[in-house]
Amino acid sequence: MFKKVLIANRGEIALRIHRACQEMGIRTVAVHSTADTAAMHVRLADESVCIGPPSARDSYLNVPAILSAAAITGAEAIHPGYGFLSENANFAEMVEAHGLAFIGPTAAHIRMMGDKIAAKDAMRRLGVPLVPGSLGELATLEEARAVAEEVMYPVLIKAAAGGGGRGMKVAHDASEIEEAWRVARTESKAAFGNDAVYLEKYLDKPRHIELQVMADSYGNVVHFGERDCSLQRRHQKLVEEAGSPVLTTADRDALGAQVTRALKDLGYRNAGTLEFLWQDGQFCFIEMNTRLQVEHPVTEMVCGVDLVKQQLRVAAGEPLGYTQEDVRFHGHAIECRITAEDPDTFAPSPGRVTMYHAPGGLGVRVDSALYSGYSVPPNYDSLVAKLVVHAATRPEAIARMRRSLNEMVVEGIKTTLPLHRAIMEAPEFVAGDYTIHWLEKFVAGLRAD
Ligand code: ADP
Repeated sequence: MFKKVLIANRGEIALRIHRACQEMGIRTVAVHSTADTAAMHVRLADESVCIGPPSARDSYLNVPAILSAAAITGAEAIHPGYGFLSENANFAEMVEAHGLAFIGPTAAHIRMMGDKIAAKDAMRRLGVPLVPGSLGELATLEEARAVAEEVMYPVLIKAAAGGGGRGMKVAHDASEIEEAWRVARTESKAAFGNDAVYLEKYLDKPRHIELQVMADSYGNVVHFGERDCSLQRRHQKLVEEAGSPVLTTADRDALGAQVTRALKDLGYRNAGTLEFLWQDGQFCFIEMNTRLQVEHPVTEMVCGVDLVKQQLRVAAGEPLGYTQEDVRFHGHAIECRITAEDPDTFAPSPGRVTMYHAPGGLGVRVDSALYSGYSVPPNYDSLVAKLVVHAATRPEAIARMRRSLNEMVVEGIKTTLPLHRAIMEAPEFVAGDYTIHWLEKFVAGLRAD
């Protein structure tokens, strides 16, 4: 096992990785920008190295500075967390070229799945069902029109290099296709430096259901069940659950068997998540994330597994040491993503946290880098805490989440805590009866009140 790991990230996920390392007797190196000198991940790590100014481009995305930090501290491996460099195939390659282990998949798999067109093509060949749409990149607007007529409106034009819900435009009918085509390409070029787009049928009532997988370097692949991430705003997840309120054990087993077979054929290694839209009992693959995800704790709670420790073991060359039959699912878990944003307008609300109190008690987990007196910098993602609860049943988990949200105090900045409290009371959420489009309407309704 590694003796020292560099964590190329910040915030709650840097802490999350640090905690796994500590419990395994691995020393940690934090990297940080000048805006994060007083950050919790820097305080808790065994060593820390300042890698640049506040702008992420000059610090958390600064590959030479991060590799130098690893070299001067003698780290043997780098964990990229999520976001930043986690899905950058060139970074993974450079880490390995410097004789370090990259805690994640191979650069080739990161590259393949980072191009959503290539990802869909690979999954199609492996027999995984897709959302109906174009088979590859759309070369012209005329081609977009033709495919849209074939799969029938509404359709979605999506960026091949997309992520974070960007570069995605709906065309409800033929009159909107030209605009959607133009905007998706322009947005994609600006955000990702690549204007390749493809087309999918825009599903009107799907749920977002994703499957967590873990693979070692010896062809062993297991899945840890599904997460339901249908509560989204602007295609971004706000609340996640494990398991999904709408899937049966048979559905999970069937999807799991299909996905693990596909990833075994692909020779995939380390953690990964396959995302699907589920509608009318059908799963349609949309993309694969080749990294640890924000919402991984709900899976950890129901499976009783530490996914970061699994990642470290696999990256160090250890076999999984268990099979699918050893994976058991217990109870239900829910995660609320609490962000430093105005709960009504979603305007960012950075600043000094004058008072922070985290909830506790049985089945409650808070992954957060907050503390009283901490100043949330304006430069990065607004996620400040993940509140996760686990209970025997979904109704009990909802009751526990309500109780925990009421106990939690964050003063000095605005947070989305009030929105989460409202969601937990909403009859549609309680009934488990909603699609990916529900939350947006619910939020609009709250504003109108
Ligand atoms: P990103 O990588 O930007 O997150 P995804 O392809 O994962 O993009 O899609 C993000 C979200 O957008 C999905 O969870 C879903 O809510 C919505 N979405 C994506 N594709 C479709 C589709 N074909 N029909 C309806 N909604 C979709």
